[in-house]
Amino acid sequence: MNHFQNIAARLEAYGLDAMLLSCEANRFYASGFHSSGTDGMALVTRNKHYYFTDSRYTEAAGRTLRDAELRKVGGGTGYSARLKEAIQEQSIQKMGFEDGYMTVKEFETYRKALPCELVPATDLLLELRRVKSREELEVMTAAQRIAERALEDILQEIRPGVTEREIAARLQYLMLHYGAENMSFDPIVVSGPNGSLPHGVPSEKEIQSGEFVTMDFGCICHGYCSDMTRTVAVGSVTEEMRAVYETVLAAQKAGIAAARAGVTGKAVDAAARQVIEAAGYGRYFGHGFGHGVGVEIHEAPTASSANDKPLPAGAVISAEPGIYLPGRLGVRIEDVIVLTEDGCENLTRAPKELLIL
Ligand code: ZN
Ligand code: ZN
Repeated sequence: MNHFQNIAARLEAYGLDAMLLSCEANRFYASGFHSSGTDGMALVTRNKHYYFTDSRYTEAAGRTLRDAELRKVGGGTGYSARLKEAIQEQSIQKMGFEDGYMTVKEFETYRKALPCELVPATDLLLELRRVKSREELEVMTAAQRIAERALEDILQEIRPGVTEREIAARLQYLMLHYGAENMSFDPIVVSGPNGSLPHGVPSEKEIQSGEFVTMDFGCICHGYCSDMTRTVAVGSVTEEMRAVYETVLAAQKAGIAAARAGVTGKAVDAAARQVIEAAGYGRYFGHGFGHGVGVEIHEAPTASSANDKPLPAGAVISAEPGIYLPGRLGVRIEDVIVLTEDGCENLTRAPKELLIL
């Protein structure tokens, strides 16, 4: 899968002759080839596309790249020199760059070295990446299924005495075992009073009977992320725990019911938030309802009160309200949905009714 053509087709609208892709995620999105950190660059022009990398990657890049010419850097010929060649070959005058990612130092280097104007154009990529193709949805669904298989297994292993860190380690192993390339992010596993830390780090704390365990995790499949959260109870629940759980679940369902193309991120967030506020827990839901997911675990568009723009069809967003009672307990439930003209499809199949292990 590559998106060179899609990017090239947007150049004119942005008044650009070319787009330079230096950040890892955009480079991968354009080319379908992954080189880490600063080990590569892609250049998209109206007629021809280039990928520059060094000898550690050239063989692998050659096997993967389609629709782009591979040029090697190193041995005294760096990225600036390679870019300069391409700029001259294609008579590039205005070249977009990722102002949202490039460091000031890199920008200064290229500004001095390259014989063209550098134009901030991160949005070109962010806008394209918001809308997923059928092929992208397929690999994201595959990543989601892997995470769900890992969940199914881990539910057999959660019992009093097992530590948060052990559960996190097993989730990572299981996702890799079932075919993940990597984790979307370090799994979050928090239990009991740690559950009120939305992004808590798994600790040596042992799970105890009567506690919630919240697991937020995902994996990467063909370069695309999955993301899900399930909160399960161990042994028994109090009435309060049940009320909090049911409120979060009802809020999540309300947000999902409100989600469709053309609705603002803010409106989707509000539909879920209303349910939590009506139950009296409004001040305990601090974060947004959801975020875009794709090549990166957090990308555009967001479904939060900060986004008053309509969400496009084909956007994949998380649906993850939570209630966090500081020092006592927390519940979050997260699915990933894809927006359609008349609603949304849930990519997550794992059950989410209250489960008491
Ligand atoms: Zn998550
Ligand atoms: Zn998420």
